[in-house]
Amino acid sequence: MANKGILVVAVAQRGALPPATYELVTAGRKLADALKEPLAAVVLSDKASALSADLAARGVDKVYSVEHPSLAGFTEEVYAKAAAQVALKEGFGKVLLASNVAGRALSARLAVLLKAGLAADVSDIAADGKVSRPYYSGNLVAEVEFKSPVAVMTLAPMSFPRAEAGAAKAEIVPVAFDPGAAKTAFVSFLPETSNEIDMGSAERIVAGGRGLGSADGFKPLFELAHSLGAAVGASRAAVDSGWIPYKYQVGLTGKSVRPKLYIAVAISGQIQHLAGMSSSGTIVAINTDKDCPLMQMANVSVQGEYSELIPLITAEVKKRRGASAVAA
Ligand SMILES: Cc1cc2nc3c(=O)[nH]c(=O)nc-3n(C[C@H](O)[C@H](O)[C@H](O)COP(=O)(O)OP(=O)(O)OC[C@H]3O[C@@H](n4cnc5c(N)ncnc54)[C@H](O)[C@@H]3O)c2cc1C
Repeated sequence: MANKGILVVAVAQRGALPPATYELVTAGRKLADALKEPLAAVVLSDKASALSADLAARGVDKVYSVEHPSLAGFTEEVYAKAAAQVALKEGFGKVLLASNVAGRALSARLAVLLKAGLAADVSDIAADGKVSRPYYSGNLVAEVEFKSPVAVMTLAPMSFPRAEAGAAKAEIVPVAFDPGAAKTAFVSFLPETSNEIDMGSAERIVAGGRGLGSADGFKPLFELAHSLGAAVGASRAAVDSGWIPYKYQVGLTGKSVRPKLYIAVAISGQIQHLAGMSSSGTIVAINTDKDCPLMQMANVSVQGEYSELIPLITAEVKKRRGASAVAA
């Protein structure tokens, strides 16, 4: 069978589809229209029917709904088997996953099962199916052409807008699935007891560096982030100093992020930090040193002492947000 069509793999997380799924739909639609091929999604969950209805309204041509108790918790083995079953049976040529923990893990297994080429962290897809992805910590963006009949790719977060729900309703096809004897089993999920915004999918990030001077220096940043609805990030120097846990680290050995707005406070902008955030939409730098790399490359550079500037900015944000809330 000729490999044709684009398949979005929708991996439910604790009963819901992560917003990155809707970014996959936008990217898939773009590719499907360019190649004049159909766009489908496969929903993997123990509650796939309800989630399939959501996806069916977002511009895909068909939704394959794989609902099975073995898909209640994520294991790469069982999820990959379920996704591969649909991809192989229908002969899809391009398989799209999110560049999150589940998507990355699944993409490697799927590429093996489908005998497919794999490109990770894709940031753009051309009309001819070639993709752009970063190399050498984002210092180089390469154009990748798949030589294999089937291509698996994970898409970098926030690279495509999220597909909105519309009036159209795609056909939903229930798929029977037998996981067989799995070697791995889902045991439990321990949620983080925090209501902070996840950095990976945040549209706004306020990050702090060594110039904050201490763990206390992060307090005004958390306040600004809260007022903006932003996630908090940090440089490795701040993490290594023990001021903030590693999960906040942005950069080569931390997280790669791509928010619409990245506010770097008291971060100099060494190459290893830039590797994780230079693809952000608008970059604002706040620093006492106007000549440091981040101040040089930022869209907006504000020279000054962070402890004076951040409370002023936070107060202004609160004032304006309050005003718009009243106006609304
Ligand atoms: C293999 C490797 C991997 C690495 N991975 C990472 C990574 O993932 N992420 C990462 O961030 N780094 C990483 N690093 C470290 C990186 O090289 C830098 O050391 C680090 O990013 C510096 O952090 P910083 O900008 O906070 O500190 P500094 O470079 O010390 O900069 C502090 C900044 O604060 C400013 N400042 C000082 N006081 C104030 C004030 N009161 N108000 C406003 N501004 C002020 C200063 O002017 C300065 O620009 C890595 C390094 C290596 C070798």
